[in-house]
Amino acid sequence: MGKESIYKIARLIAASKKLVAFSGAGISTESGIPDFRGPGGIWTRYDPDDFTYQKFIQDAEARKKHWNLLLGSEFIKPDVSPNPAHYALAELERMGKLDCLITQNVDGLHEMAGSSKDKVIHLHGTMERAKCLSCGNLYPIEELRAWLSQGVEDPRCPKCGGLLKPDAVLFGESMPVWETREAQRRSQNCDLFVVVGSSLVVYPAALMPRYALESGAKLIVVNQLPTDLDEKADILIHGKAGEVLPQVVEVLKQAGV
Ligand code: NAD
Repeated sequence: MGKESIYKIARLIAASKKLVAFSGAGISTESGIPDFRGPGGIWTRYDPDDFTYQKFIQDAEARKKHWNLLLGSEFIKPDVSPNPAHYALAELERMGKLDCLITQNVDGLHEMAGSSKDKVIHLHGTMERAKCLSCGNLYPIEELRAWLSQGVEDPRCPKCGGLLKPDAVLFGESMPVWETREAQRRSQNCDLFVVVGSSLVVYPAALMPRYALESGAKLIVVNQLPTDLDEKADILIHGKAGEVLPQVVEVLKQAGV
């Protein structure tokens, strides 16, 4: 990774009046959470077709698989913590440089790193709680972990007996309406859009950088592997988010931004 690219990113951020950051699973791999499509990603070991919303609703065996994967030791462990990339984005907010942070992630690490709740748009919900599909009651994920560890395989709502589902958007499930609209609006109104750790193949999330480009915004891509938008990027770094973003913040601070 060239230092020149770090300076170029810092210059674009310093000049930006409305910066939207957009994070994907890749920003959390350095916290020990696997992504889906990177090397060693979840889909190298599991079949994505087994993890659809439709299967979750219809089939108790599929629900068992979902809970085992989502709360087992291979995905988001209970003691997970943010890495320097999450902290760098929280720092950009404190510096007054962030209009919003659109995240596809469900791990809660942006807020844990200090990003404000009202700056983060959760496009794909959160794994921090489960929701009853009948009465809408919410349960902290720690409760679900406890039930699973006690041998419950297909957790039900203690209030009404309804199906409990992680409050994250599963494949084939409809997107949250407000978040999707708001993410689109912010993307269309920004002057700089920064992609961090996303393969940009999951839609409609992957439309956001495209909306930004169509509206004339500049695009920065920080991702380990190539993405479909690499050639449209004003600055492209194939590198680790946890190494790139803190350096950018450091340059901005040295410049007194
Ligand atoms: P993806 O798995 O499709 O792509 C991740 C990308 O990040 C890959 O292109 C990879 O090269 C890159 N990457 C991996 N480590 C990186 C690093 N240290 N620095 C920079 N780039 C890195 O992920 P996606 O595009 O976010 O789409 C997958 C879907 O899965 C999303 O809906 C997301 O919500 C969900 N997901 C979330 C989590 C999480 O919350 N942590 C984890 C896995 C999947």
